[in-house]
Parts: sequence; structure tokens; C-alpha cells
Amino acid sequence: MHLIDTHTHIYLPEFDADRDEVVNRAVNCGVSKMLMPNIDSQSVDQMLSAESRYPGVCLPMIGLHPTSVREDYLSQLDILENMATKHKFIAIGEIGIDLYWDKTFLKEQLIAFRRQISFAINKHLPVVVHSRESFPEVFSVLDEFDGKGLKGVLHAFTGNINDAVKAINMGFKLGIGGIVTFKNSGLDKIVKETGPGSLILETDSPYLAPVPYRGKRNESSYICIINKKLAEIFGTSEEEVAAITLANSTALFNL
Ligand SMILES: [Zn+2]
Repeated sequence: MHLIDTHTHIYLPEFDADRDEVVNRAVNCGVSKMLMPNIDSQSVDQMLSAESRYPGVCLPMIGLHPTSVREDYLSQLDILENMATKHKFIAIGEIGIDLYWDKTFLKEQLIAFRRQISFAINKHLPVVVHSRESFPEVFSVLDEFDGKGLKGVLHAFTGNINDAVKAINMGFKLGIGGIVTFKNSGLDKIVKETGPGSLILETDSPYLAPVPYRGKRNESSYICIINKKLAEIFGTSEEEVAAITLANSTALFNL
């Protein structure tokens, strides 16, 4: 059984003490690739050193995370776009709108989101979208690019069924992780309606660990727990969910 963790911050300091062990545990339980979303210009070096230590396994993206959009965001974007001309990245991410932590830079978040989507379309790369308390804003921006060949994923999806259908119709996949194992998240009912053909698996590690590790450090080997939970929800085998979501990830990220 092959699985891909489409969203892990394995390069963060949370893994400095035991990164080799964490990657080995994931590889040993069938996780063949671990896709790394970037955060800002300061995280790139750590991310690229994880790529060189685990070549072909840990694959980097480039982008400015919405919670890192501050006064200096335009120079950040310049730096990141310049890097994208010198190194191979599999996606533009993570990008989007976050109104949960801070609304101060909403205007700048919108500008950065639009600019990075245009960049992704020019580079023929998918986008990895972070949306927190911001579905109306995210969809209004995505709408502007409808029909322009944009594809991507709504990572750590937490919307309702209408949001899910809208995203899928726009060519997006839903990134499903630990939240689907949380009691009362309601996400189980939504994915049951969408079916596995619209889903890709992710941990968002070190965050959002699935039950029974909720609240602890998350890691890519737990992608097996997410896969198992989805198999239960769909009433099918783990192998089947793994095969379908693997095909979805492979196609979306041109792996
Ligand atoms: Zn993330």
C-alpha cells in the first residue's frame, strides 16, 4: 500500500531532534512521498535541506503563508518568486486567507493570494490553499481565476458540503487529515457525500494530529490512520482508499 502525505512541515524545529526517525517511520508504513508547503522566506533553507537529506521523498513547494503576510509581504513575494526560477518546486503553497489569527492585513492577504495564483498559473503549478474563517474571501478570489486552468487543493478542509461541491467543481481536491477523526467535526458526513475521488491525504504535521494522538505532535506515519478512517467511512478497504487518493495526489502534483 502506497500513501502520500501531501502536507507536512517536517522541516520545522519540532522535528530537529528525531527527523530521521520520523521520516523512516513514515516510509516504513508505506508513505512514499512527503510534500512540504513553505511558510515564508525564512523557512525555505530548512525546507530545502530536508529535501536534500531525503531526496525524492520530501518534495518542496514555494509560497507565502497568509499568516506571514505583513508589512514586508511584497519583498517576501519577490524573494520567493525569484527562488522559484532557480529551483524545482512541485506547487505554490501554502497560500490563501487566514482571518482566524489576525484580520489586520486582510487587504494585503488578498493581494498576495491573487499574485501567487497568477504566478502558479504561469508556471503551470497547482496551488495549496490555506483557508481559515475565510471561505467567502477565498472563493471570491478563486472565482476570478475560474476557467484559467487553475488546479489545487483546499488544505485541511473544514467547510460545509456547499463549499466542498464548489471547490470540486472548480477543479480542486479536498485535503483530508486529522480533523476527520475528531468527534463532531462533521467532516465524515461531508466526505461520504463527495466520495474518495475528490480527496487527497495530508497530516499538516506537526499540527492537527489524529485521534488517538490529538493534541500531540503529528507526523507523516499517521497518514495510515487517516486512510483507515476514510475506509471506515466509505465502507471499503484501506487498499482501495489508498489507491484512489494516491492517484488523485499523483495527478494533482504531477508526481
Ligand atoms: Zn500547513
